[in-house]
Amino acid sequence: MKQILIADKILIEKELYENKAVLIDGNKILDVFDAFESEITHIPVKTFPPGSILMPAFIDTHTHLASYGISISKPNLNKFQTKKETLEFIQNYIKEQDKEIYIFVGYDESKWEDEQTLFKEDLNKISRDKAIILRRICGHKAVLNSKALEIVKDIDGIDFNTGIALEYLPLNLYQIFKPSIDERKEGILKAQEIALNLGIRGIIDITDVESFKAYQQLKREGKLKLRVGIVLYERYLDYIKNSGFEIDFGDDNLKFLGIKTFLDGSVGAGTADKLLKTDEELEYLLKQCQEYNLQLLAHAIGEKAINQFLNVFEKVIKDNYLRHRIEHFEFPYYQDIKRAKELNIYISMQPNFVALWGGFDNMYAKKLPFETLKRCNLYKTILDEGIKLSFGSDCMPLDPFLGIKGALNHFIESEKLSLNEALYLYSTAGAEFLFMEHKIGKIEPGYYADLIVIDENLRLIENVQPFE
Ligand SMILES: [Zn+2]
Repeated sequence: MKQILIADKILIEKELYENKAVLIDGNKILDVFDAFESEITHIPVKTFPPGSILMPAFIDTHTHLASYGISISKPNLNKFQTKKETLEFIQNYIKEQDKEIYIFVGYDESKWEDEQTLFKEDLNKISRDKAIILRRICGHKAVLNSKALEIVKDIDGIDFNTGIALEYLPLNLYQIFKPSIDERKEGILKAQEIALNLGIRGIIDITDVESFKAYQQLKREGKLKLRVGIVLYERYLDYIKNSGFEIDFGDDNLKFLGIKTFLDGSVGAGTADKLLKTDEELEYLLKQCQEYNLQLLAHAIGEKAINQFLNVFEKVIKDNYLRHRIEHFEFPYYQDIKRAKELNIYISMQPNFVALWGGFDNMYAKKLPFETLKRCNLYKTILDEGIKLSFGSDCMPLDPFLGIKGALNHFIESEKLSLNEALYLYSTAGAEFLFMEHKIGKIEPGYYADLIVIDENLRLIENVQPFE
């Protein structure tokens, strides 16, 4: 069905234009023209209010959408103010659902008004033959009943007398208690709904093989409404080599891209200056990616890991046709920004990180020397250098609007982006990361009508055309 869309402004590349109309037919853009010169009268017109911006839908180039979906699907205990209410809820939930393993998240015993303790025996009273696991809100602590403890026999950090598990188990919960394919599908659909309501239409999901299968099933069932690029963790390299997957294998709805490796840790954990690979290991990995046509996503937050990647890359790669990427690129040396440009490396950054942890008295400032803090998330410098840069959320949380606000309000004055620039980086720029720059991310005839309308206060007015 044909339709004409007229918003107050439309975003084309990094510029906003007024008085433009866009003609779409189903999920394709047919024409862009001056709104007041049109002689078309027989096609319905949809006009959006003053202040509205019509733009390409958001593309989030770094997510963990499937695992985000799994975690939001788990029953959350955070709303309960007492131990009694918490345990009653668990008891009723288990009565209603027929499963072998029950995972609950979000409990916070520090705010319970009755007893502020929770042990194995509390959960055994509810069930001894079904596994029950409660993960604390912080993610670093869990409590298991006896049945659940039988499953996890040889894992570090578990006190079998109390049923309390610290660190490894709670942090790797979904690798230890693997969700079923149906749970994964349910999670992806929930997360997809959230994404669509935030104006997102394209994502890259860094995930595992089981979730990739869940995506494939959803696609076959016609339920996948996002355009998804799949990146698998490095531990699947042999699996990928054997399966014959290569970069850009798939279609406009779901495609495979490559693998993700970690070169350092995080600022929050105090490990952003710790290299996780030797140069030789990284060189071998890059060569494998070249040989098997796989894109490499290298997680590098600190200057050391960024520098290491550039050094090895320079040695191995002559032409970056596989669009190898650096993820985060948070604290590069200035000269390494120039080198990244020369080497044509793709970079995905997370502007929500600045919104969450930026500033002169926030987490980054407390953890890092001032000299490093001054090189924090240099969006403007990197964009102006002409680097292939795009934005993503890392699902912390999944929300492009938070990220855009982070980029607009950067605590380093000279690194603030304009609204147009931030919108561009969260939409148009991401298309190339999905190998779809000729199909999405622009308002031009022939492109998919993956379009959204937002208002001046950075809220979604409409996700125009979720494709059929
Ligand atoms: Zn990530």
